[in-house]
Amino acid sequence: MNMEFYRKLPIPKDVKEQFPITEELSKIREAQVAELNKVFAGESDKFILVIGPCSADREDAVLDYISRLRNVQDKVMDKIIIVPRIYTNKPRTTGEGYKGMLHQPDPNSQPDMLKGIISIRKLHLKALSETGFACADEMLYPENHRYLSDILAYCAVGARSVEDQQHRLTASGLDIPVGMKNPTSGDITVMMNSIKAAQSSHVFLYRGWEVKSAGNPYAHAILRGYVDKQGKSHPNYHYEDLYNLYETYKSSGLANPAVIVDTNHANSGKNYLEQIRIAKEILHSCRYSKDVRSIVKGLMIESYIEDGAQKICENAVYGKSVTDPCLGWKKTERLIYDMAEVL
Ligand code: PEP
Ligand code: MN
Repeated sequence: MNMEFYRKLPIPKDVKEQFPITEELSKIREAQVAELNKVFAGESDKFILVIGPCSADREDAVLDYISRLRNVQDKVMDKIIIVPRIYTNKPRTTGEGYKGMLHQPDPNSQPDMLKGIISIRKLHLKALSETGFACADEMLYPENHRYLSDILAYCAVGARSVEDQQHRLTASGLDIPVGMKNPTSGDITVMMNSIKAAQSSHVFLYRGWEVKSAGNPYAHAILRGYVDKQGKSHPNYHYEDLYNLYETYKSSGLANPAVIVDTNHANSGKNYLEQIRIAKEILHSCRYSKDVRSIVKGLMIESYIEDGAQKICENAVYGKSVTDPCLGWKKTERLIYDMAEVL
C-alpha cells in the first residue's frame, strides 16, 4: 500500500470515556429521539426541521446560531421539532477543498484528525449542554459514526454515499432516524433500495468486528434534487414528485413511509434564497393532499447567521457559510414563524 500509517488514533470508546455525555444530557437526547421516532411512525404530526449551516466551520458561530434556534423552538414547540445541523464531515465532489471540522478543526490550518475527532465531539456535546439540542450530522464515514453515536439525534446518508453498501449496512444498526438521500443522479430506485437495506437486519464487518444490526425502522427518504447528464440541476420537491413518492412507498412494503425534503442543494440549484419559496410550496402541497402530508415529515434547510457563502480565508466573516450558501438568520427566523402559522 502506498500510504503512511503515521499515527494510531484512539478508538471511539476511549474518546467517549475522555469526553463523556452525562446521564442527564443522555436523557434529554433520548427524549428528543423518541419525539422524532413518533413523527416517523405517524404517531405525531409535528413537523421536523433539520436546519443549520452546510458545514460547522467554527464552534463559536455554530453555538451562537443554535442558541438562536433554541429561542425559536420554545415558541413553536407545539407544531415544529427543530434538529440543528452540525455537519462536521463534508463530502466533496472531486475530493478537493474543505472536508469539514473532522479533518480541519481550523479551516485555515492543515488537517489534524486527532484534533478533529475531539473537536467534533466537544462541539456536539456543547450544543447539547448549552442549548438542549441533540443535533444532526452526516454519516459520511460509517466507521467514524461511533465517535458521536451517543450524542446525535438524527443523521443523513448523503447523495454521494447512498449507493454504498457499508453506509446502508451501518444505517441499519443505528438507533436514531437516518435519512437516505436520493443520489445525485436522482434515481429514486437507488434511494428506495437504500431504505430497504437500512430497515433490514444484516451481519457484516464493522470496526474489526463481526456485527449483527437490528434493522432501522425509521430509515426514510430525503429528496434533494438531482443533476442531469449535462450537469444541470433539477428539483424533486414539487407536488408530483411528492405524490409519486407516496405511491412508490405504498407499493414498497417499507415500514414508516416518510420523507424529509431538502430545500437547498439541487432543489434550489444552490440559489439559497429560493429555500423560502420552496418551503412554502411544500407546505402548500401538504395542505392540498392528505396523502402527501402523510409522508412529508419535515424539511432540511441550509441556514446560518449571515446570508450566502464565502471562500475560506484568514479574516472570514463570522457566521457565513464556507461551503454551500445558506439563508441568513433574520430570514430563517421569519420563515420558521411563517411555517408554524400555517402548519
Ligand atoms: C449537505 O447536506 O450539505 C450535503 C452535502 O448534501 P448532499 O449529500 O445532498 O449533497
Ligand atoms: Mn450543503
